[in-house]
Amino acid sequence: MNGQMKETQALADKVMFQTYARFPITLVRGEGCRVWDEDGKEYLDFVGGIAVCALGHSSPLVTEALEAQSKELVHVSNLYYTKPQIELARLLVENSFADRVFFCNSGAEANEAAIKLARRYSKEKHGEGRHTIISMKGSFHGRTMATLSATGQDKIQIGYDPLLTGFKFVPFNDLTGLEKAVDDTVCAVILEPIQGEGGVVYPQEGYLQGVKKICDEKDLLLIFDEVQAGMGRTGKLFAHEHFGVAPHIMTLAKALGNGLPIGAMLSIEDLSSAFGPGSHATTFGGTPLVTAVASTVLKSILDDGWLNHCAQMGAYLKGRLEGFREKYDFIKDVRGLGLIIGAELDRAGAPVVKACMEKGFLINCAQDNVLRFLPPLIVGKEEIDHLLETLDEIFEHFPADNG
Ligand SMILES: *Cc1c(COP(=O)(O)O)cnc(C)c1O
Repeated sequence: MNGQMKETQALADKVMFQTYARFPITLVRGEGCRVWDEDGKEYLDFVGGIAVCALGHSSPLVTEALEAQSKELVHVSNLYYTKPQIELARLLVENSFADRVFFCNSGAEANEAAIKLARRYSKEKHGEGRHTIISMKGSFHGRTMATLSATGQDKIQIGYDPLLTGFKFVPFNDLTGLEKAVDDTVCAVILEPIQGEGGVVYPQEGYLQGVKKICDEKDLLLIFDEVQAGMGRTGKLFAHEHFGVAPHIMTLAKALGNGLPIGAMLSIEDLSSAFGPGSHATTFGGTPLVTAVASTVLKSILDDGWLNHCAQMGAYLKGRLEGFREKYDFIKDVRGLGLIIGAELDRAGAPVVKACMEKGFLINCAQDNVLRFLPPLIVGKEEIDHLLETLDEIFEHFPADNG
């Protein structure tokens, strides 16, 4: 079997672009919080497809919705109305600050839509020249040209210049810096309420409220990128609900379809006239198939107690990791909310990720030194205990001079 595994991976390395530094396992099956590789080895999954599989792998609800809708109608384009799309939009509007929804296929596309809406609206309202969007250092908004231009990390932008103009960066958690950056070319501020790829960076007390105040005073649009932290991951449906601050525009993707590709851009009514017929479009956006599944996912997150469960499991995991901090001085910080949790180390986290994988646990590392935990929201306490036991073992033997 091992020989066969090597063969599969050798073929992959030959026929696909090497854009991903993949781990040397080939996953073939999943159920709940578990996945199996082609040798039959089992892993407890604390990555969840990068915050995507909120209801876990092979969720019977999802499978059933997928199967039923695939027999009815998969795709017809947005030249026509389709019922599952309208139903998902209704659910999102009823359960958020927003009045309108645009569907697309990924987080990057949702942010593209947000950037386009903000610019077009501002041009209509304020005239030429008001197009700059302020973004945060350490942010991540996607890999398309516009969204990588909006991303505050050099490593994402390298080699792709000239980048799109009209983006400006200020440090996250710095209200003074933000205020100083606002001039009369600025139309909007985009940020993740909790930065995910940046290493689970948490907003300081009063920060998001302060950003909202600046936006209100200067008549700027506030865009929240909730692609990673939204859809229940923090224990509320949307991360911003914890802070009592609503944006004008919000983007969603990752967990929205539990693994089917779907993104959404939501906004308040006032902006909707800027996106009239012909202003923006995508062929696959909100197909009956993905929206039928996403409605099922959203209803389950809201109605089946997963938000409370996520808050409880998150508090437990975070508390236990904080306990580790006293025992292991290489753990510098533990941050997060619900089941988006980061443990910042004073050294590279890759050896921990590798050791976990060998012992049958998938975890992830952001920014080289932040162990990141994004398990399905349905993860159980026993599964968390199992991971913690293994982490404890690994930490005991973690070489002091590593990294
Ligand atoms: C993953 C992510 C994106 C990009 O989503 P894709 O579906 O990969 O295009 C954008 N913003 C945030 C906050 C993300 O975590």
